Amino acid sequence: MKYTVNNKGYYGNFGGAFIPEMLYPNIKELENNYIQIIESESFQKEYRDLLKNYVGRPSALYKATRLSEKYNTNIYLKREDLNHTGAHKINNCIGQVLIAQRLQKTKIIAETGAGQHGVATATVCALMGLECIVFMGKIDVERQQPNVKRMEMLGAKVVSVESGSKTLKDATNEAFRYWISNPDSFYIIGSVVGAHPYPDMVARLQAIISEEIQWQLQETIGRNYPDYIIACIGGGSNAAGAYYHFLDNERVTLISVEAAGLGVDSGKSAATTVLGNTGILHASKTLVMQTKDGQIIEPYSISAGLDYPGVGPLHAHLYETGRARVQNASDEEALRAAFLLTKLEGIIPALESSHALAALEKNNFLPNDIVVVNLSGRGDKDMETYIKYKDSF
Ligand SMILES: *Cc1c(COP(=O)(O)O)cnc(C)c1O
Repeated sequence: MKYTVNNKGYYGNFGGAFIPEMLYPNIKELENNYIQIIESESFQKEYRDLLKNYVGRPSALYKATRLSEKYNTNIYLKREDLNHTGAHKINNCIGQVLIAQRLQKTKIIAETGAGQHGVATATVCALMGLECIVFMGKIDVERQQPNVKRMEMLGAKVVSVESGSKTLKDATNEAFRYWISNPDSFYIIGSVVGAHPYPDMVARLQAIISEEIQWQLQETIGRNYPDYIIACIGGGSNAAGAYYHFLDNERVTLISVEAAGLGVDSGKSAATTVLGNTGILHASKTLVMQTKDGQIIEPYSISAGLDYPGVGPLHAHLYETGRARVQNASDEEALRAAFLLTKLEGIIPALESSHALAALEKNNFLPNDIVVVNLSGRGDKDMETYIKYKDSF
């Protein structure tokens, strides 16, 4: 298993747990228990029952016929957009809340930027009757009002963080601070980022995506792997889930798509592997967009979910080893792909997922290739942006 985490919490040169001393007991407790819990029969039974009856899994693997014709290949869409709450994030939140219960935690905390992870967390807390506090930078609270209202309706307390640049990293700092002084709480992280064991735990909880792709392909094409899997990368959780069971199968080419924003050289971008270098972000050693003296460079993408100044350590490793082909798509390319999918297939994708779709233009596939695009979420939340650009495409 070349691409899974080692017992020190590293993927090659990346990963680890660069945490303040005070957080050590919380992280250690999780590290000592998460695998045993995830592999236990009682967890698996409850996790899979909720994925089936609450989330609506398995999500369809849909052969997009008209899109396939356009690119002269065989394109399958893994429909994470059909999940309850509209994206893949719920898979992870369900899993982590079940782990929290087994560690006797009574309170859930989370941080959120765009609010998508906050909504998924607030949703599972309502489901389980658990107290939920979501930390969010003041600027994000202001620009993501619909998600703030959703979280509040779901019973979560949204804490507006006024320190620093008042965005995601400040919300994370505040969540850490709260966690240190409230060890009865459980911190749900929304992507394959943060201190070990979070990246591995989240990847395992999202691995249901590739598990389903395996048997769905077996059923439809008589072979349990595709030639290509394409996924967008913010922190990298939907990609990690879609890749997980194929990581060691080198017949499967992994294509990771980062957000180029207005272009990688424009100063307004989130293409971490192009613009970043090794540093520490969210307690993990990974590729980070930073200045020479280690200050985080504010990332930019039209898509809030990809607007992150790093990638999870797994993806830094997949990039460094060449296992994944890392590409990027600009705002404009993503928008074009979104309008194309809508027109040809009647599916309005999330702006994040549209970046993965944009890669269809940039790779030459053979007529016999099987190409799976992970459609990480639906576009309802992005309608305002789509309406703004509808006459340009
Ligand atoms: C949050 C989000 C992403 C980005 O997060 P990853 O951890 O990289 O998957 C992608 N797509 C959608 C729809 C999201 O909500």
